[in-house]
Amino acid sequence: MNQSTKYPLLFREKRDCCGCAACADLCPASAIAMKPDIEGFLYPHVDRDKCVGCGRCAAVCPMKNHPAAAMPEICSAAKAREGRAGSSSGGMFPLLARHVLDRGGVAYGAAWTSGMHVAHRAAETAEELRGLCKTKYVQSDCRGAYRSALNALNGGRPVLFCGTPCQAEAMRRAASLPGSLKDSPPPPWPFDRGVGLLRRSLAGAVGAPCQAA
Ligand SMILES: Cc1cc2nc3c(=O)[nH]c(=O)nc-3n(C[C@H](O)[C@H](O)[C@H](O)COP(=O)(O)OP(=O)(O)OC[C@H]3O[C@@H](n4cnc5c(N)ncnc54)[C@H](O)[C@@H]3O)c2cc1C
Ligand code: SF4
Ligand code: SF4
Repeated sequence: MNQSTKYPLLFREKRDCCGCAACADLCPASAIAMKPDIEGFLYPHVDRDKCVGCGRCAAVCPMKNHPAAAMPEICSAAKAREGRAGSSSGGMFPLLARHVLDRGGVAYGAAWTSGMHVAHRAAETAEELRGLCKTKYVQSDCRGAYRSALNALNGGRPVLFCGTPCQAEAMRRAASLPGSLKDSPPPPWPFDRGVGLLRRSLAGAVGAPCQAA
């Protein structure tokens, strides 16, 4: 890091960091590593030599940036008994997630890993969704999930991101940072239709597109 670079102070005391890993996931210089403390809770460690002082880590942090307005409280539960049985508290998560999957989207939630850890994973099928259901009473490792969800959003796909309030707020902030969401390209059908119209009106005079050298 350059001497004049402003080095980020992510937290002074452990209670000021919830270990959501959004700072590490979204650092453009890969300067932040999440390391477990003596109890196994993850905390960020900044490599000053890699840090470029962009401030993205502090901007995405849900502990530094509390939501401006209180969220409305919504209480709901799945009507079908079998929908509730596979979940811990009313079965709204799989209901909402299926809605997103049915529209070609991706659902993110906490899953057990093969090493008996808990980490946030993406589900694109009903089978993968089952692994995300039910509460896991340990901290979920979100590394990679925010970035993956942003990629899905940038690909024009609907995304459901479910986690603890701080993880959800980190995801919301990540998606609202300038430059996080790029305009996705338009769907191909208007172009195809335009080419079809031109071909018909110009009687075959429309050729192949020019390739840049
Ligand atoms: C650590 C923890 C403690 C909780 N304690 C209470 C409580 O005291 N009282 C109460 O009413 N509700 C509590 N909840 C919430 C509740 O258990 C349900 O998970 C939640 O309401 C969703 O329920 P569901 O039936 O819609 O879906 P479910 O299928 O039960 O929930 C699955 C979703 O919960 C998320 N989730 C599960 N485990 C974790 C985790 N470790 N970290 C982050 N996200 C996770 C997943 O991302 C998944 O998307 C707690 C949740 C957690 C994670
Ligand atoms: S200031 Fe930028 S480069 Fe430095 S740790 Fe934070 S996100 Fe990474
Ligand atoms: S973004 Fe999350 S992990 Fe990083 S400092 Fe803030 S609360 Fe801690």
